[in-house]
Amino acid sequence: MYTKKQTVIPEDVVDRAYQGKCSKEDALVLLEGSPFELFELADTLRAQAVGDIVSYVTNRNIYITNKCAGNCGFCAYRTEKGYILSVDEILKKVDEARKAGVVEVCIQGGYTPEIDMEFYLEIVESIKAEFPEICIHALSPMEVNYAAGISGMSVEEALRKLKRSGLDSLTGTSAEILSDRVRKIICPEKINTQQWIDTVTAAHKIGISTNATIMYGHVETIEERLDHVFVIREIQKETDGFTELIPMSFLPYNNRIGEKMLASGKFASTGLEDLQLIAISRIILHTHVNNIQATWVKLGKKLAQVALQCGANDLGGTLMEDQISTASGGSNGEYVSPAEFEWMIKGAGRIPVQRDTLYRKVSPNSGIEKAHFRIAEEQK
Ligand code: SF4
Repeated sequence: MYTKKQTVIPEDVVDRAYQGKCSKEDALVLLEGSPFELFELADTLRAQAVGDIVSYVTNRNIYITNKCAGNCGFCAYRTEKGYILSVDEILKKVDEARKAGVVEVCIQGGYTPEIDMEFYLEIVESIKAEFPEICIHALSPMEVNYAAGISGMSVEEALRKLKRSGLDSLTGTSAEILSDRVRKIICPEKINTQQWIDTVTAAHKIGISTNATIMYGHVETIEERLDHVFVIREIQKETDGFTELIPMSFLPYNNRIGEKMLASGKFASTGLEDLQLIAISRIILHTHVNNIQATWVKLGKKLAQVALQCGANDLGGTLMEDQISTASGGSNGEYVSPAEFEWMIKGAGRIPVQRDTLYRKVSPNSGIEKAHFRIAEEQK
């Protein structure tokens, strides 16, 4: 992000970071300084927040459809003549996943006039009826807004119905960069910044958790990245509904935005930038959002291990499939086994723990432990 300079972080900046009051000016000072000092501060705050546990979830992505009424400039996934899975096909995939031992299914896809709220509700209800032990982490604020609109209901009503149907958690995707300037360039048809904020805030207030995401490394400025993380912090102060932040680096292949960048000699974010964003996110969100994910599917397994020394405490999911990243040139594979996660985490000198979507500890052999607890709380 910035040129490396050897500096010592000012004491008042460190004090505010410990108090969960890092300001935007503080964040810029930290990014302009030595990356090693930044990583060290982030790692210290990580240890204070969640100790040495590194969590991961056994899960499966299920892509309902690759049809989409949107036309995002970074998308390599949408196609004109795509598929829409039937409820039976989705249940079959959930069953395969359950037999493979997963505790979460992550249901996502494009938004299309062919999918309304009734279909989403049927999917959630059917999964919950047949597999009550599996966490359903599904849909994005964009999909909920679109389906609610074509179904003639408000977003709040749609969210309430999803909760009653058994939705455990809404995904925090479609956030991209929470700046309308950026959104007009990369995803003009998507909901705007305020609509994303309003949707996740409404979800949190009716008891649906979400994660938060940031998709960076394209047309946004460093300040816009930071503003995004501060927006997440402000929402969290009001609702306490985010389980984690997932920084996702932009993959510039097979999509319009990436092709323009590559043609002008610009490439994706560097490994150093990836680590700096994880570290500064940990610092900005300290005392507000405990969990920062190093997502192996974007970073690769080795950089994800390094990120565990820079503020991250979670490695995300086993996945089983990741059509979106592979379509955009992701080359880190589509599955990591629990055994490999354990090896990666122990190799980074930390303690592996399986979790579910809501960061409740899971026993690998007996499902979610009866006495649910937040992993971070166990450390205190
Ligand atoms: S990124 Fe998602 S919303 Fe955008 S065009 Fe692709 S499938 Fe549609």
